[in-house]
Order: sequence, then C-alpha cells, then structure tokens
Amino acid sequence: MKRILSVSLLATACAVASIPTWAAGEKIGLLMSDLRLERWQKDRDLFTAEAEKLGAKVYTQSANGDVSTQISQVENMISRGVDVLVIVPENGEVLSNVLAEAKAEGIKVLAYDRLIKFADIDLYVSFDNIRVGEMQAEALLERKPTGRYFLMGGSPTDNNAKMFREGQMNVLQPAIDAKKIQIIGDQWAMGWSAEAALNIMENALTANSNKVDAVVASNDSTAGGAIQALAAQGLSGKVIISGQDADLAAVRRIVQGSQTMTVYKPISKLAETSAAMAVKLARGESIQADGYVNNGKKEVEAVLLTPIAVTKENLDDTVIADGFHSKTDVYNP
Ligand code: BGC
Repeated sequence: MKRILSVSLLATACAVASIPTWAAGEKIGLLMSDLRLERWQKDRDLFTAEAEKLGAKVYTQSANGDVSTQISQVENMISRGVDVLVIVPENGEVLSNVLAEAKAEGIKVLAYDRLIKFADIDLYVSFDNIRVGEMQAEALLERKPTGRYFLMGGSPTDNNAKMFREGQMNVLQPAIDAKKIQIIGDQWAMGWSAEAALNIMENALTANSNKVDAVVASNDSTAGGAIQALAAQGLSGKVIISGQDADLAAVRRIVQGSQTMTVYKPISKLAETSAAMAVKLARGESIQADGYVNNGKKEVEAVLLTPIAVTKENLDDTVIADGFHSKTDVYNP
C-alpha cells in the first residue's frame, strides 16, 4: 500500500496502514555516515533536539563508514514508514537506486552536509564547502607564501572532499603557476581516517627527506594523523597545517602550536536549519532555500551556511564565544 504523506491524512493512515499509533508526529529517519568522528555526534544531538522540539520523532542509525550498511539502513527506514530521510551519505554517488524506492513511497530526502549525487533529492543543507577549502589554503599561504606544499585530501567518496580540494586549488593555483610554491604530493585519506593520514604523511616525509613546509589537511581528523607523523620526525609546529571542524583535540593543538588553523562550522545552525526544513518537508509545507546546486540529476534547492576560519588569534571570539567548546576544556584540559 502506498503511504499517505499528507499530515492531515495521517490519522486515517495510522488507522489503516502499518504506522504505529504512538507515532503521532512526523517521522524523520536520520542516517549518519559515521558517528565515530566527534562532529557528527554533535550534529545528531542538535538535529534530534530541534526536530523533537518541533514535534517530530527522529530515528537515527549510523553506517560506521560502511556503504552497504547505509543502503540497508535506508531500506529499513523506508519500511518503518518515515516521512523524511535526512542523510549524511557515506558515498554520495551510490544512493540513487535506493532513494528511487524512497521516492516511490513519497518520502522526502534531505542531503545533510554532503551532497547526494545523481538522485532525486528535495533539499541540500550544508556549508559553503568551496569556501572552506579556500580558507584552509589562504591561512597557510599567508604564513608561507613560498615552499613545499603537501595536499592531504579527505575521503575520495565524499563529495565535500572534492569541494574542499577545489577551494584549496582556487587559492594555491596562482602561487603554483608563479612558481612560488611546489606541490610535492597529493593523497586522499580513505574514510577521513587519522590512521590513513598518518601513513600517508609518514610515506610523504620519507619520500621527500622530511622537506615539507606546509600540509593542506582537509579536516581535523586527518590533520591529527599527519601531525603525529610530523611529531615523530621532530617537525611538529615547524610544518604549518590546516584542518576543519574545530574538534576539541584540534583546537587544543592550535593553542599548543602544532596545528595552524581549523575551520569552524557552526553545527547548531546546520542542524537546526535542517531540522526545521525536514519537519516542513514532512508536513508538505514549502521551504525557503537560498539557491540551487546541481547534483547531476536535477537542480536541488540548497541552503549553504558560512564557515569561519579559526586560528589562535580568534579562537576565543568564535569557537569559545559560541559555546562550541568551553574555555576550560580548551585551555586547561
Ligand atoms: C564534513 C567535514 C568532516 C568530514 C569527515 C565532511 O563531509 O564536511 O566536516 O570533517 O566529512 O567526517
């Protein structure tokens, strides 16, 4: 039986279909790619709190970095009869078939933080990810306008990783063309894993006889792995390195001097905007997006929030002032 989406008909649907009677509000399936990284736990908690405040019920599952697990979780949510799927895709290019099934059931789909490509989705809420990459490269180039740069990309299956790289290259390319900087290596850390980044960095240091001036790391977990490899060679604090997410460990590294910068993305805005929009989608109400992003299948309505570059200098006025981390946690761990 086809699910009835309209909220006004929900009571009838409850009576006749398999929707349990306890599910009074809108049902949202929140599918996370990997809850093992610090930032995603915040996303889950903030999203859930906001959606539940608005009267919805949120069911969460994490794929722990596994693509086929995520596909089964989408199927599971379809059979639970959710109204909306909010997905952080583990691999943004493989969900089109399973999402076609969701569509056939009238389920709306919101791509959370990462774009889902080639699929019929309803909304994409994220940050300006090209800008994130630009901020990372700008912070490094400002400090070392010449030298040997290593590029540490994120997970090759994450569309964001490609956008960060695009932004980084917007800034680095003119310096490369002017022969001011030299790219001495370019690798991608599968699953954004710190261990993968550690291995990549160890090999890069060996291959370059430790002659590296800057590492353009795309987030804090990969920066953490790279910094471990740099520290083992006595290079921590000497080689400048970027990051992203304002993870507590990264912010502490910034204070202590082994990491140059991070990009703070106010997760509360992302989570709260997404929750409000997911509830609207569930209710069949119209949403107010900022523009469109092409996902290879359609022009998807999109909301892109603004990231903030953070260094030692503005840490107190950004991450701490926002309550993202407390002063004590950062300075007196
Ligand atoms: C997110 C980053 C995060 C990374 C690894 C990206 O898609 O935008 O904030 O660090 O995934 O989880």
